[in-house]
Amino acid sequence: MVIPLRIKWKNGLSIEYKGNRVVFDAQSRILNCKVSFVTHAHTDHSYSFRLNHIPVISSEETMRLISIEGAKTRKWQPLTVNEKVKIGDLEVIPHPSGHILGSYEFEVCTPHGVVLFTGDLNTREGRIVKPAEPIRCDVLIIEATYGSPEFIFPSDREVGDEMIRWAYKVLGENKIPVFQADAIGNSQEIIRIFNENTNMPVISHWRVSKVNKVYEHYGHKIKYIDINSGEASEVISSANTVIVSPKKLDLPSNHRFVSAIVSGWALKFRGAAFPLSDHADFPSLLNFIRDCSPKIVLTYHGGAFNEILAKYIEKKMGIKSYPANLTPITFPI
Ligand SMILES: [Zn+2]
Ligand SMILES: [Zn+2]
Repeated sequence: MVIPLRIKWKNGLSIEYKGNRVVFDAQSRILNCKVSFVTHAHTDHSYSFRLNHIPVISSEETMRLISIEGAKTRKWQPLTVNEKVKIGDLEVIPHPSGHILGSYEFEVCTPHGVVLFTGDLNTREGRIVKPAEPIRCDVLIIEATYGSPEFIFPSDREVGDEMIRWAYKVLGENKIPVFQADAIGNSQEIIRIFNENTNMPVISHWRVSKVNKVYEHYGHKIKYIDINSGEASEVISSANTVIVSPKKLDLPSNHRFVSAIVSGWALKFRGAAFPLSDHADFPSLLNFIRDCSPKIVLTYHGGAFNEILAKYIEKKMGIKSYPANLTPITFPI
């Protein structure tokens, strides 16, 4: 009798074989699960760090980034790139996903073929973290944050140049440019853009500074001044600086601050907004899928785009594809 492999999306991606169930990026408390894997430190992926009843596995970088906010799980286990974990007949191997420090995609080798779960992914070169590696697989479960054809990002170089031009313009008006971005990932990219291309000191909000410290711990050079230091008030008053701050945060009010959002969604915004993203855009998602050459693609993490991307994959690439939350699949089919 053939024992089936079951893959389904229910508050996280679950893969089950012979009674051994593993879950990736769980979004609520999970039961009957042997191990929970976390792809990266962003809060919409790292719920498992609140669980204490099962082992939670991630990169050490991810654990350190998550513990900045105080989250801790008692049964955390580290996993480095290309190391393997065996759970019954399932073997899980992490690879870089190119998204933020320590982010993984997970390859799961099963008796019925290879499954790849991407987490959040970015395939562009030349950033602080290594780009995502395509892995040959039978089933690909891919994020669809920008899973619609209208999302085509300009190169990071072009976006960086525009941010610098805008910053000089704002400074020329005797104001202070403030970039608002994700505290983990994009904020460090912005600081590096200014470090590498200007002599301007960069001030970072204390929440960003805490993340910077973790990046520095892993050997990434980031030059910044923490907003609470005396030096920060000096450079602010001399109007020769940019500030990097988390997105949903009000800065101490200062009529000289002019802010801009930095995010892939900036493609849809008017006014000062810059589409620097730590995700793959639509063409990059398609290239990644092609390079993995899967038999089935499940889309997730994209809301309405899950369906748009899945339809596009079926129609244009001739590969079976469904939104992961709608269609549990069983192998062999
Ligand atoms: Zn993320
Ligand atoms: Zn995400």
